[in-house]
Amino acid sequence: MRAWGKPRVAGTREDMRVGVVALAGGVGAGKFLRGLVGVVPPEDVTVVVNTGDDLVVHGLHVSPDLDSVLYWLAGAMDRERGWGRADESFRTTAELRRLGADGAWFGLGDLDLATHLLRARLLRDGHSLSAATAELARRFGVATRLLPMTDDPVATRLSVIDESGRERDLHFQEYWVAREARDRVLAIRYVGADAARPAPGILQAVEEADRIVICPSNPIASIDPILAVPGIRGAVEAARDRVVAISPIIGGAPVRGMADKLLPAVGEAVSATGVARHYRKLLGAYVIDRVDAAARPEIEGLLDGGTVAVVDTLMVDDAVATSLAAAALACVGAGA
Ligand code: GDP
Ligand code: CA
Repeated sequence: MRAWGKPRVAGTREDMRVGVVALAGGVGAGKFLRGLVGVVPPEDVTVVVNTGDDLVVHGLHVSPDLDSVLYWLAGAMDRERGWGRADESFRTTAELRRLGADGAWFGLGDLDLATHLLRARLLRDGHSLSAATAELARRFGVATRLLPMTDDPVATRLSVIDESGRERDLHFQEYWVAREARDRVLAIRYVGADAARPAPGILQAVEEADRIVICPSNPIASIDPILAVPGIRGAVEAARDRVVAISPIIGGAPVRGMADKLLPAVGEAVSATGVARHYRKLLGAYVIDRVDAAARPEIEGLLDGGTVAVVDTLMVDDAVATSLAAAALACVGAGA
């Protein structure tokens, strides 16, 4: 029996556990985290979230991945669309487009705007992004600790070749949202990462966590920016025996998103094996989908002694996410 599958009993040793740190992008992470907080008390989970996609729209600081994770954990997400709020409307964005406002290519929902207005107010009052994030989580009733990877500005930028053969340098969101990932990606940079510091609490949480989970997020667009903040990759590598990742690639394709465009840009195959190779120095264990079961021996070889678990990883509902989280936690740390 794995301790994680059982409900926590007050007064037992499980009550005192340091908990789980999750490295997260947006939607893939959000779905998974709903499962994770089904098997670990939400307040024992610290989520370190990518901010390389952040951008300023209409003067407001927008953090797409922090917002996705917040909405999924709060149960306020649109499950079908993946990003943004349920019961959302886009009247403000439609009007901004009609008025020809700069930045209106980035669709912000009317309910979603409330988050950005509140965050902008907190930032303008001198709070850090971490403090503003904690405040938003509190107001959404989310007990899980959400930490941006850094309070410093980092921007994921792509060098691409556009349809006319011209080389361009694009912010991640311009590539993904405005240009719908149509350009060929040559290279990815995390601008500002070298000078960024991990947000307060991250390094200590990674050091003390009894398990560290790399969510099924885009390795290049979501997880690598987090690892590019000086100190974080080293802390995760040092904790390797406690680290498990879930493949975001099932049967040679991302469930959604543009991982199939970005993995080749770093010379990696679009497969569960390619992601394992990309992460190999970080992992004590790795979870792949049943459709990729044949890749298991090769991945075990890459992880030199690491565990490879084969389960259902397509999170069609919270029940699948919960079993997936339990399986991931069972591979590493105490009792594995
Ligand atoms: P984004 O920033 O919103 O694109 O979110 P993430 O980086 O967290 O998630 C994108 C990745 O999540 C993509 O590579 C998807 O393939 C993966 N993903 C989404 N849903 C699922 C799922 O149900 N199962 C698995 N294994 N991966 C998923
Ligand atoms: Ca993202």
